[in-house]
This record gives sequence, C-alpha cells and structure tokens, in this order.
Amino acid sequence: MFEKILIANRGEIALRIIRACKELGIRTLAVYSEADVDSLHVQLADEAICIGAPPSSESYLKIERIMSAAEIGDVDGIHPGYGFLAENAHFAEVCESCKIKFIGPQASAMHAMGDKNSARACARKAGVAVTPGSDGIVETEADALKSAKKIGFPVMIKAVAGGGGRGMRASHNEASLLPMYHAAKTEAEKAFGNGDVYMEKLILNPHHIEFQIIADSHGKTVHLGERDCSIQRRNQKVIEECPSPLLTPGMRKKMGRAAVKLAESVGYENAGTMEFLVDDDGNYYFIEMNTRIQVEHTITEEVYGCDLVKEQIRIAAGERLSPHVADATPRSHAIQCRINAEDPEKNFQPSPGKIAFYYAPGGRGVRIDSHAYTGYVVPPYYDSMIAKLIVVAATRANAIDRMRRALDEYYITGIKTTVPFHSAIMRNAEFRSGTYDTGFVERVMISDQFELKPTSTRLHE
Ligand code: ADP
Ligand code: ADP
Ligand code: MG
Repeated sequence: MFEKILIANRGEIALRIIRACKELGIRTLAVYSEADVDSLHVQLADEAICIGAPPSSESYLKIERIMSAAEIGDVDGIHPGYGFLAENAHFAEVCESCKIKFIGPQASAMHAMGDKNSARACARKAGVAVTPGSDGIVETEADALKSAKKIGFPVMIKAVAGGGGRGMRASHNEASLLPMYHAAKTEAEKAFGNGDVYMEKLILNPHHIEFQIIADSHGKTVHLGERDCSIQRRNQKVIEECPSPLLTPGMRKKMGRAAVKLAESVGYENAGTMEFLVDDDGNYYFIEMNTRIQVEHTITEEVYGCDLVKEQIRIAAGERLSPHVADATPRSHAIQCRINAEDPEKNFQPSPGKIAFYYAPGGRGVRIDSHAYTGYVVPPYYDSMIAKLIVVAATRANAIDRMRRALDEYYITGIKTTVPFHSAIMRNAEFRSGTYDTGFVERVMISDQFELKPTSTRLHE
C-alpha cells in the first residue's frame, strides 16, 4: 500500500481524496496555487507545497512543478482527481518514468479512450453502438459539408478533446453548418489547445446515461450500474441520479454488458465511466469515456455501498477488487445537486467572493462534499462548483423530498449560489415524474411556472 500520496487537484475533490487517504492510513501532500492558500485541502493535508500563481496554467496544470513537489515530498503515488491533468496521458507517463504510481488507468488506455474520436473507433471495434457520425476528424469545410450530408441534419460538431460541455455546436441546416464548425473549432482550440473536431448525428431529446466501471490489475472488470445525468445546462451536468428513472432492468443489463466489454477490450484498469445517449425508442449510443473519477461518483457510492476513491487507491496498489465492490447491488436511490457559485437570476454568471456565512444541511441520508466554510473566499480562477449535495433514500420519491428539505436548510450568504435553482427543479412536475431528457432545463427555464424562490429556512429572515 502507498505511504504518501500527492493530490494534484484542489477544491472538493482534493478533500474527497484526502479523506479516503486518511481512512486508509496514507499520508497526504497537497499542492496549491497562491489563490488557494486558505483552502481546506491545504489545511487538512499532512503537508502542502505551493506550486505557483493562481491561473491553473501556472499551477495545477504545470507538470514540472507538480513533479518537483512529488520529489521534495517523496511520495509514492499521485491522485489527479477530475479536470486539470486527470485525463492527460503524458502526465501519467511522466509519473511512470519517475517511478511514482499514477492513480488511474494506464497511459495506453488513456490514449485509446482519451480522445473522443479514437474512443469511438475502439467502441466500433468492440461491437458497441456509437452515435452515427463522421469516420474521423473533419479537416476542412468541404469535409464538413460532405459529412453533414451523409449523416443528415441536425448534426453535432464536437471537439475530439472536449470536456465540460465545451467545444460542441449543434447545426440544424446547411446555412449554419460552417459558422458552427468554425465556432466549435475556435472554442476547442482555446479551451483544449486542440482544434480538431468530428461530427455526430444530433440525437433528439436524448437521455444521458452513463455506466460506472471499475477494473483491477488482475483481470476483473465490473460495472456499478448507471447514473442519469440528463439534467444539464449548456451540455454540462447540474443534477445526477442513480438509478436512472428511464432504464428497464433489461436495458441496464444490455448497456452494462456493453460498457464492461468496451473496458475489457482496451485492457482498462481502475475507475472509469462509459457515457451513452439513449433516444426515445430505447436505442443507446456510446458517446465518450471519462478515464477518471467523476464529479458524480458519489451517488453510485451511496446506492452501491462502496468507496470508489479508496477502491481506486487499492487497485493502483495492485490489490484485487474488494469483494463487496465486485458483488455490489443497488439498494437505494441517490440524487446529487452541484451547488455552484453562480447567480441563477443573472443567467448563471459566476459569483466569486467571500462567503459571509455558511451553514450546510445534515440529518439522515444527507452528504455534503465541499471545501466551503464561513469566511472562505471563492476564487474567480477555477470551476464555480463549491459543493455537492447528495441525498440517499429508499425510493426516488423519498430522495426528491429529502433533497427539497436539504436545499431548504442550506444557508450561504455573501455570494450567489444555484441552491434556489435546484430547489425549483425538485418542485417541478416533469422532474418528479422522471420523464425528463437533456432539453429539460432549457424548457423549464422559459416556463412561467418556474420560479426561483428563496429557501424556507428561518435563518434567511
Ligand atoms: P463529470 O462527468 O465528471 O461531471 P465534467 O465533464 O462535468 O465531468 O467535468 C468535470 C470537471 O472536469 C469540470 O470542472 C470540467 O470543467 C473539467 N473537465 C472535464 N474535461 C476536461 C478537459 N478535457 N479539459 C479540462 N477540463 C476538463
Ligand atoms: P463532454 O466531454 O463535454 O462531457 P459529451 O460528448 O459527453 O461531452 O457530451 C455532453 C453532452 O452534450 C451530452 O450529455 C448531451 O447532452 C450533449 N450531446 C453530446 N453529443 C450529442 C449528440 N450527438 N446529440 C445530442 N446531444 C449530444
Ligand atoms: Mg461527457
């Protein structure tokens, strides 16, 4: 087992990993930017090293500085969390060459599944259905026109290196195709330093359903069911639930098998997620794999009764999958709301700054993964997510009621948050019916029944 792990991340996920290490008796080394001196991950780790200026390009993305910190701290493992360097195969290779274990998949699997275009090729080879689309990268305007005609409008133009909903544009007709093609390329170049795009058929009113995979280095691969992440804004998840209200046991079995088969076909090790779109007729299409722990891993943990981060660490240390994980079965319903420092009344514009007062909900079935506290200053440089509120209950209806209750208790002042937005969704009939698709947020936001009300706790008075 590891003696000391460096956490190459910040915020709630850095905290999540530190907590897992503490329970496993592993020492932790945090790295941080100058903007994160007062962050909880710095305070809770056994040791901490500053690695640079606030912009992530000057700190959390600087491989040399992270490796220097690893040398100084004499660590034997590095956990990358999600975002930043988590899906950077080069970083995994650098770790390997420094004889430090990268807690994630092997670099080769990251190469194979890391870019969306090659992941699609792997899926086709493994016999897993992908969204109909271009055979590879769409290099020129002429290629774009040809592909769109072959696929048929509407189409989705997507960055091969995409993530977080960026570098993606829909086009519904020939007139908008080239402007959207260039918009996707420009955004991808800016966000990922790689402007390559490909094209997919736009699936109408799809459901985003993803399967959690976990595999050890002894050849055992299992899935831990699905998460429904169809509640999205700008192609980014805002609420996730497990299990999906859409899937039948038959579909779960079929899609789970496909996900495991695809992971096995590339010799995948550690935790990962296969993302699918499911259409109205129950057809499912693989869209991408995330070769890392995900933001929403929490709901799977609650429903399947396991700790995915501890399991990642155990697997990276060469251990076999724990029996309780290999044989896990779903036993409840969980929902997660991503609480962002954004103003839902002002088109979700970022709301960084000092948290004047912070009180988080508690009680039965409530879990908070957050680095926020009273007095904490949310820096403007990073992702706006400041907390994940997770509830677990015996049934979906109970979970929704519990989430509504927990959101009402959440009390954060000084900055704007998305708590009232989540509250409104929990009260929405379409959400409660479980029939929603990825167009839900856009639809409800323009309906007059959708009202952002302050929560009901008397702390607000
Ligand atoms: P998840 O499926 O885990 O929710 P998201 O796509 O929402 O994943 O991304 C999780 C975090 O990682 C977000 O902060 C997002 O901005 C970041 N992220 C995801 N992919 C990339 C990428 N290719 N490059 C940079 N950041 C990314
Ligand atoms: P990212 O890497 O940004 O997470 P994904 O490929 O996972 O990108 O897509 C994110 C979301 O964008 C999906 O969950 C879905 O809502 C939407 N999307 C992506 N591809 C398509 C498609 N072909 N048709 C319809 N919606 C799509
Ligand atoms: Mg995705």
